[in-house]
Amino acid sequence: MIAVLKHGSTKADEKKVIKLIEAEGFTAHPDTGAETTIVGVVGAAPDKKINLKEKLQVMSVVEKVVVISDPYKLTSWNFKQDKTVIDLGDGVKVGGDELTIMAGPCSVENKEQILETARIVKAAGAKILRGGAFKPRTSPYSFQGLGEEGLMLLAEARAETGLKVITELMDIAHIDVVCKYADIIQIGARNMQNYALLKEIGKLDKPVMLKRGMAATIKEWLLAAEYVMNEGNHNVILCERGVRTFGEETRNTMDLSSIPLVQQLSHLPVIADPSHGTGRWELVIPVARAAAAVGADGIMVEVHPHPKNALSDGPQSLKPANFRLLMDELDAITTSLKTFKAREKKIAYK
Ligand code: PEP
Ligand code: MN
Repeated sequence: MIAVLKHGSTKADEKKVIKLIEAEGFTAHPDTGAETTIVGVVGAAPDKKINLKEKLQVMSVVEKVVVISDPYKLTSWNFKQDKTVIDLGDGVKVGGDELTIMAGPCSVENKEQILETARIVKAAGAKILRGGAFKPRTSPYSFQGLGEEGLMLLAEARAETGLKVITELMDIAHIDVVCKYADIIQIGARNMQNYALLKEIGKLDKPVMLKRGMAATIKEWLLAAEYVMNEGNHNVILCERGVRTFGEETRNTMDLSSIPLVQQLSHLPVIADPSHGTGRWELVIPVARAAAAVGADGIMVEVHPHPKNALSDGPQSLKPANFRLLMDELDAITTSLKTFKAREKKIAYK
């Protein structure tokens, strides 16, 4: 943090500022220039920093206070030197050396649909089955999900295929029932800043995937993860699912640059969701390829045996044959990517 003093400030003003900084337990590093004096602030705990910033800001001799360091702690590389790998058991990991594929319908609709999809995605190489039982829909008149019945069907699909299950939690009231069936709890874009919900899942011993809010900055997204981790649950996965911009041709704008950026800032794994990121099945394969190429730790993709009949997100769901095609292509990309990753390790994003 740097305090910039007002033009024409005196040595006495500078001393006043230094006195306050030191009284708060920090070290002051003044730099007296011909025109402007700045005072660098170093040390003490981050929570004290906010307090000092406010105290400096109200001093009449201070022009402005510039914060240099990032506000995240637990999500950052400073807190943990090794990348977070979420181990779901049976050899399924998120954040390890493999590109982890999560695939399945937007919503669980009925037994045949979810079992058929689970068999298809498993045979193609996916490790995790997705499917919403509690659906956040823009309209209250749209299909809201099957609730616990949907969760039971996901569990049935897991028992048959061995796939792990990820499903969305929308409400604190449903924590127990969702935890009973899910291997990973998904927090959707609309709930990324539901701090009460984030704090509650922070108390659980269950992996969480936190989707980026549709208008969230990277800082807000990481601070949302910080809420979960601060309560003790460090098994957090991030998911880029596109942000809202002015274009109407795609449902969202898939922010691919956020993936390597977040990986440079944080040790948490980052998944890409090109289905919600584009909203159009024709764009899902090329954007998924690109996400793998920028180094995503996994891809979440919506797959439906009959997208035309889907109760939600049919237009962005891949048909089984296209999903198989995508899986082959991703294999080719991850093979070449291993060379790049080995090189990146030497650059050391820390
Ligand atoms: C979903 O994954 O089905 C979903 C609703 O996603 P998002 O929260 O990203 O809109
Ligand atoms: Mn969906």
